[in-house]
Amino acid sequence: MFSLAGKSVLVTGGSKGIGRGIASVFAAAGANVAIGARSQADLDSAVASLGDLGSGKVIGIAVDVSDRDSCTAMAAAVVEAFAGLDVLCANAGIFPDAPLQTMTPDQLAVVLDVNVKGTVYSVQACLDALIESGRGRIVLTSSITGPITGFPGWSHYGASKAAQLGFMRTAAIELAPHKITVNAVLPGNIFTEGLADLGEDYLAGMARAIPAGALGTPEDIGYAAAFLASDEAGYITGQAIAVDGGQVLPESPDAVMP
Ligand code: NAP
Repeated sequence: MFSLAGKSVLVTGGSKGIGRGIASVFAAAGANVAIGARSQADLDSAVASLGDLGSGKVIGIAVDVSDRDSCTAMAAAVVEAFAGLDVLCANAGIFPDAPLQTMTPDQLAVVLDVNVKGTVYSVQACLDALIESGRGRIVLTSSITGPITGFPGWSHYGASKAAQLGFMRTAAIELAPHKITVNAVLPGNIFTEGLADLGEDYLAGMARAIPAGALGTPEDIGYAAAFLASDEAGYITGQAIAVDGGQVLPESPDAVMP
């Protein structure tokens, strides 16, 4: 129905997991895609595999989103490579485990630095280019954890993911006059390389708790992001959409059909 061909897209955290899935959907749709992450080796291998998916270019940019200057350099590199920027997917995030009773100030700070400040810095760095686009799109990767649910060991992470939505709502108002929309995708349990290490039994247990009966794929998040990035979604802003196979719906495990 809609076309993303020729659009210029930046996906932070695009070298792995959900970000790589988002990047693959945009690349397959013919967009020019830049992925940002810290590890150059991971960027190189992702660019190599994403490059063949569509007719657009794919480039990797080394960035630490918790550093404002690094974000500014990332945005400048994308604009130089693609002569502009239409879509920012602010996806980079971390989820280290830290029980509340023993959580240190450093453990709290690093999660807020990457997940909250990293989101704000990425958006700020891309703003001039998104305004110039005339139909800029910002898609945040939040989570069901924090905005809707909780999980032991992730109180700091949940706070950071809820903070992204607070940021989103005011950013959406401030940027609406520039025809920029700001929305968020809330993934449920998505099958990424990291989760594979948890083992088959654990994953099967997770799948049983989801009405759809399976974990999501990184591409599932990419399809939602692609819709929100389309011209046709231009009247949707400040909204959060859970992409979770119905995971947040059951009142109890008994409510999930066998
Ligand atoms: P992942 O597989 O660990 O990938 C994280 C990506 O972010 C990597 O590309 C990583 O590359 C990059 N990154 C991490 N810290 C960064 C920094 N400081 N600067 C720049 N890039 C950085 O994680 P994921 O599971 O795909 O999660 C991606 C997003 O989805 C996160 O925001 C997470 O909160 C959200 N999410 C995930 C799930 C899930 O089930 N997986 C569920 C809900 C929400 P480098 O390490 O090389 O920098």
